[in-house]
Amino acid sequence: MTRRPLAVVVDLDDTLYPQAEYLAGAAVAVGAAATAAGVDGARVHEALVRELAAGSDAGGTIDRALLAAGVPAAELPLLVPGLVAAFTGFQPERLSPYPGVAAGLRALAAVAPLGCLTDGNPVIQDAKLAATGLLPLLPVVLVTDTLGGRAARKPAPVGLLALAEALGVPADRVLVIGDRPGKDVAVAAAVGARAVRIRQGEYASAPDEPRAEAVVDSFPAAVDVALGLLDGAVVPA
Ligand SMILES: [Mg+2]
Repeated sequence: MTRRPLAVVVDLDDTLYPQAEYLAGAAVAVGAAATAAGVDGARVHEALVRELAAGSDAGGTIDRALLAAGVPAAELPLLVPGLVAAFTGFQPERLSPYPGVAAGLRALAAVAPLGCLTDGNPVIQDAKLAATGLLPLLPVVLVTDTLGGRAARKPAPVGLLALAEALGVPADRVLVIGDRPGKDVAVAAAVGARAVRIRQGEYASAPDEPRAEAVVDSFPAAVDVALGLLDGAVVPA
């Protein structure tokens, strides 16, 4: 038998809000910075949108976009730092959470310790969270990169272990809610915890590997599953 979870950890990008909205704005900011640096900003913007669509968490995205936009490789060392700064410094004014997210977070926080575990540049993740307006509803937020850069990103267990400790529960009694099997479900599995996967956003069609305890189509549906588990329902292991 699997013991019931005692706390809930939610992912941020494509779990609480559609990350595509943020990426579109950041790409515009990079295009503008490219124009200011004397290269064809429209082409750079177009190439960056394509690169981001191919996989938004790969490194070297801006380098590849510049090359794709026809910028000679020799000019990259001069251009890239400024464009990376434009990307990381992009402060979205507002990012719209998925429907029902604020109410769902309130419902979870009412019955269990609640935290957010997110990967990425801490400056960027903080700006995203602020723009969603959800920060007051998330008592504890941990950006994995603050624990050791990319190596600390999910599914490395270090972030979930630290967050569970901050929430005051054993890591294997946390329920993770997230959109990516390879990160959110996998990090839960890495510490013996359970996970609910939401099929939405960039990875909506990724295979269920590893398999989550439940797969749903929206944040409110994940909250319903979580509330049932927190309530003491005992599910066969
Ligand atoms: Mg995500």
